[in-house]
Amino acid sequence: MTLEHPSTHALSGWGRSVHRSSPVRRPTFDGGLVEAVLAEPRITVRGAGKSYGDAALPNGGIVLDMTSRNRILSFDQREGVLIVESGALLRDVIDQTLSLGWKLPVVPGTERITIGGAIASDVHGKNHPGAGSFGRHVRWLALLRSDGNIVQLSAGQDADAFWATIGGMGLTGVILHAAIQLQRVDTGWVVRNRRRTRSLDETLEAMQSLAARQELDPERHVIAWLDAHAPGASLGRGIVDEFYGASTLDLPGSVAPYPEARTAAARNRRSLPGPGLVSRATIAAASAARWHLSRSANSQLATLRSALCPLDRADSWPAAFGRRGLIQYQFALPPDELDVVRAVLVFLGTHGMTPALATLKTFGFDSAAPLSFPIPGWTLAVDLPARWVHGTLRPVDKLVAGAGGRVYLAKDAVTDPELIPVMYPRLASWQRTQRRLDPSQRWSSGLAERLGLLT
Ligand SMILES: Cc1cc2nc3c(=O)[nH]c(=O)nc-3n(C[C@H](O)[C@H](O)[C@H](O)COP(=O)(O)OP(=O)(O)OC[C@H]3O[C@@H](n4cnc5c(N)ncnc54)[C@H](O)[C@@H]3O)c2cc1C
Repeated sequence: MTLEHPSTHALSGWGRSVHRSSPVRRPTFDGGLVEAVLAEPRITVRGAGKSYGDAALPNGGIVLDMTSRNRILSFDQREGVLIVESGALLRDVIDQTLSLGWKLPVVPGTERITIGGAIASDVHGKNHPGAGSFGRHVRWLALLRSDGNIVQLSAGQDADAFWATIGGMGLTGVILHAAIQLQRVDTGWVVRNRRRTRSLDETLEAMQSLAARQELDPERHVIAWLDAHAPGASLGRGIVDEFYGASTLDLPGSVAPYPEARTAAARNRRSLPGPGLVSRATIAAASAARWHLSRSANSQLATLRSALCPLDRADSWPAAFGRRGLIQYQFALPPDELDVVRAVLVFLGTHGMTPALATLKTFGFDSAAPLSFPIPGWTLAVDLPARWVHGTLRPVDKLVAGAGGRVYLAKDAVTDPELIPVMYPRLASWQRTQRRLDPSQRWSSGLAERLGLLT
């Protein structure tokens, strides 16, 4: 087989705020992949393109789209070890393994990302205090280096390269396939406890009291939605949802332990504002309605997949922000820096940028991966129309960096590059490993260039 010519595609991040037109190669066989890598001086690796900003967009050169390399190579049903190609979607893995009683231990807010994207961003779920991030469950991975060699990496086999690749944003090589330890589950359902809160303090208190339970149970998920429009002392009131894995005893007799995988059509049923309809007035009205219509309630059953990935029913979300799309600004803070959450919400509100969506999660512990995002503490994600942001959130960056926090590279489109070494103090050690793995400097991306990650 010979190498196909690249074809030119218009690409963007999921937020649709950054766009590039680029030649794309989509190799389907190993030889083609190695040949493509050796033939191109500058390459950006891309999975499903669900990063919000420019992490999977090129800055010159070509894009290597990995989504046709999507086979499950083996699954050990006794031990729960899955070996899977990096272009497979989490959704397809869950379709194949959940009804066998095994679940991916970390699932972010969407199942529509690839295994390669999950490793390269070291993604987290709502269960971070108990489960950690995705890389913690990777037993080993196969990496195609820029010299054409394929190496197997693990915590015991070139640990520096392994941890530099986890969270390494596609800048150490192409993840070809990986062995992932899945988590046993009794059913495909969760039990949901919901609490409506009246202030930010009450929201934070509720989260703190749930964190201790989360630490003991990797299948306990918690997320809070915050009403960033509520005035005065009500700012940050919200809805705190806790989910835990349902056992068969939690299910009424008529309910099967594993719900049918939803059809593609059912996945998309959710009513959302139409194109361009996110404005200050519509967000304020929708936030107030959401808060007023919700009620505290315990022990409600939901399917695991709908609880973990609510936005998968909302394909039109970025379009609702208008032609210029949305920025999701997500940052993490140490445990004792909760005041910064309030300060950021107040700053955004007083500068005409009250978020359309604001969600708060708890993080448990650090990772050995130098560029991994989670640190012990908290993470707030806010969705903002890109047309409001004017290219930078510098004052917020400063607040976050000053508190010992950091922004999430997988979502970033606006962070001040000067603050990246402050936010990621192990950047220099990651860069040393990156240079060892890629002396010819083939790997690149819009994100890497904009933030100076490789210099
Ligand atoms: C609705 C929504 C909700 C989300 N919720 C969360 C969340 O809760 N938690 C969270 O952590 N993230 C979340 N994300 C972000 C998302 O999980 C990450 O951006 C993830 O990396 C996207 O994976 P992808 O396959 O789309 O990769 P892409 O966006 O295509 O690429 C992401 C990065 O991975 C690299 N990469 C991709 N494939 C490979 C490979 N085979 N080898 C080497 N590098 C590779 C790319 O170079 C790039 O740097 C969410 C995104 C969306 C759209």
